[in-house]
Amino acid sequence: MKNVVYKFGGAALKSADSIKNIEQIIAQFRPKLVVVSAMAKTTNAFENLVEAQLSGQNTEPYLDKIRRFHQEIISGLFEEEKNGAEDNLNKVLDYCKAYLKHSKNTSYDEIYDQIVPAGELISSKILGAYLQKKGHKLNWLDARKILKTDNRFRKATPDIVFSKAELVNQLNEASTNLIQGFIGGTENNLMTTIGREGSDYSAALFANFTDAEELVVWKDVDGVLNADPRYFNAPNLIPNMSYKEAIELSYYGATIIHPKTIQPLVEKNIPLRVRSFQNTENEGTTIDSTTEFDGSKAIYIYKPNQLLITLESEDLSFFGESKMSEIYHSLFEHKLEVNLVQNSAVNCSICIDNDPHKTSTLIEEFAKKFKVKYNENLELLTVRHYQAKLLEELLLNKDLIIEQKTRSTLKLLFK
Ligand code: ASP
Ligand code: MG
Repeated sequence: MKNVVYKFGGAALKSADSIKNIEQIIAQFRPKLVVVSAMAKTTNAFENLVEAQLSGQNTEPYLDKIRRFHQEIISGLFEEEKNGAEDNLNKVLDYCKAYLKHSKNTSYDEIYDQIVPAGELISSKILGAYLQKKGHKLNWLDARKILKTDNRFRKATPDIVFSKAELVNQLNEASTNLIQGFIGGTENNLMTTIGREGSDYSAALFANFTDAEELVVWKDVDGVLNADPRYFNAPNLIPNMSYKEAIELSYYGATIIHPKTIQPLVEKNIPLRVRSFQNTENEGTTIDSTTEFDGSKAIYIYKPNQLLITLESEDLSFFGESKMSEIYHSLFEHKLEVNLVQNSAVNCSICIDNDPHKTSTLIEEFAKKFKVKYNENLELLTVRHYQAKLLEELLLNKDLIIEQKTRSTLKLLFK
């Protein structure tokens, strides 16, 4: 086994064929530890299930949809033969059903964390069963018991010392070790999650705990591109990138890696490679401490669905440090991150991702202290290493609400 950590996300786990492809990658490169997220859009499907429950709808169709999606993949992998993946699927979904039926819990975040991790529990069992069928020696690890966290549901913080000791203890050097990303557990055995798209962060922690030589995040793109191909034409691959540039990019919203991924790697100087599970001969992008990003190419980061909240003091009193610290405290309490902030003497505008479960109570809370206005459905474009001549093009036909510039970064908030 090679002392490397591989992470496969939803796009790498979307069909029976994609699982077969992962098995081939594992057989070829023999990584010691493999981290997986839920399959395809399963996390969204479980979120919809929780929504349905809380709005009093019949949850059965939502469970059925999840069951059928995974059943189809299982039958594509195992044909008629008996396999543990199917039993596990039924067991996990029966648990979800029973929990939703009997739980008296009313906290959205806590219910969410008792249901949504099911996606990772199912995907890791399916991949595990298939690896075994193909003759791999497998050590299936349970992240709920290894990644111990506090009980800040939906944004739990791992207990690094405990989790490291537990992972090292349970790792089997002679097997493929397989574990779930994104999920953990409290000391009272409640399930937790560490934030959407968090399995990169789990993988980085596990790489740190095991002193891995490399963390590879396998993607459906060739590496880190200078723009998101969903929104921009013909972006270019960036072959090398510094940790610092990668942190900046993910902080501004580049979805290629989770913002928390880099720090555990920096601590142990572990390179992060982003490469394609479709084109395994490509080198992808290497992110490490040796590269200085030359800044010769602009990098574009696009974030849709932004909410701009503007607060004004009722008595036109000054918006000083003490009001700002109150505002930041409320944002922290609501587990929200600020994408852009702009102040004047008597008001303050904050741009955040629009997650109605968090933002509606936040707005109510602000309305007790300030005059509140808000603007939904905005788009935030951040350009790193921007060039003046490109700006004119970008601004064409756009209703610009806020523009902020530093020497290296430009932020544009549009309607
Ligand atoms: N499955 C989780 C999500 O979709 C975690 C991850 O993919 O990293 O957010
Ligand atoms: Mg995912």
